[in-house]
Amino acid sequence: MKAVYLTGLREMEVRQAPEPHLNSPQEVLLRVDTLGVCGSDVHYYTQGKIGPQTAPFPFILGHELAGTVLEAGAKVTTLRPGQRVAVDPLIPCGKCDQCKSGRKHTCRNQKFLGSSGQPGALSEFLVMPAACCSPVPDSLSDDEAAVVEPLSIGVYAAQMARLAPGARVGIVGSGPIGLCTLLAAQAQYGAKAYVTDLVDHRLAVARACGAIWTGNPREEHVVAGIQKLEPLGLDAVFECAGEQDAIDQGIELLKPGGTLLIVGIPEVDRISFNISYIRRNELRILNVRRQNECVESAIELISSGRVDVGPLVTHHFPLEETARAFEMVRSRSDGVVKAIIRIS
Ligand SMILES: [Zn+2]
Ligand SMILES: [Zn+2]
Repeated sequence: MKAVYLTGLREMEVRQAPEPHLNSPQEVLLRVDTLGVCGSDVHYYTQGKIGPQTAPFPFILGHELAGTVLEAGAKVTTLRPGQRVAVDPLIPCGKCDQCKSGRKHTCRNQKFLGSSGQPGALSEFLVMPAACCSPVPDSLSDDEAAVVEPLSIGVYAAQMARLAPGARVGIVGSGPIGLCTLLAAQAQYGAKAYVTDLVDHRLAVARACGAIWTGNPREEHVVAGIQKLEPLGLDAVFECAGEQDAIDQGIELLKPGGTLLIVGIPEVDRISFNISYIRRNELRILNVRRQNECVESAIELISSGRVDVGPLVTHHFPLEETARAFEMVRSRSDGVVKAIIRIS
């Protein structure tokens, strides 16, 4: 089968790879239909690492996929050949204390598609545990099914914030994860969202997705702009940029007792806080690691029409042009938000 290998920093090659086969009766063989390029893939592409996780060149990236079941293992009862699925790229061990306490996403022995030790999905076929595959209704397009994974992160982040109905929230960084958080917070909690980003076209997409206010810190003092409209401060801020500046702005925007959620992945090893300020205002600071059990909710939000992910999907590429897609996402050029690779 064809697969795209990351062979070095900003170097990709389409190569032949062995076709995968079922290794256990609980697995399914999938045809990979669509795959979204994620910011975390681009971390590996540009830096060769995410925090302590280093890229084992050459390796296959990709974890936001939709596929079709071609073959189901003997003990798979939930899926049959021909079923279209959205995939949760996390493979938990099922045995550790974290798995047993319902925290699969912090499993101590987890594998994650397209990270060190586990090939990703930028290939024609993929074998996954059936438990990682959720059926999607025919009404979902292949693009929408590929966006289920990032949307599930938005759903989880919004849940973690424990928003009251109509909460006032900030979203600092409106890349795909910021936008998915915006969509989920609005659909599930009727949140009113103030959204910032350094790239104007992303702010236009945020407005198309329902943001009540957007601002670019390169062009205006966004904290002052939001404070003018919300003098008491915001209930929660989702930091979706992974930058010290964005975290500082998020802290400043919160009301006393408000919650900062760190959803973005910082490229640096350490981030600092004004400890006196966050203590005196008793701000809650929460870290979000991907998501936990939110895939079904994400599918439901799209299929019910409560969330439209259409404005996010801006570009399509065939498998052979994956390198071009990654360069575009890296440079944030051509108005790109979510680039989708159409594989089959
Ligand atoms: Zn992702
Ligand atoms: Zn585990």
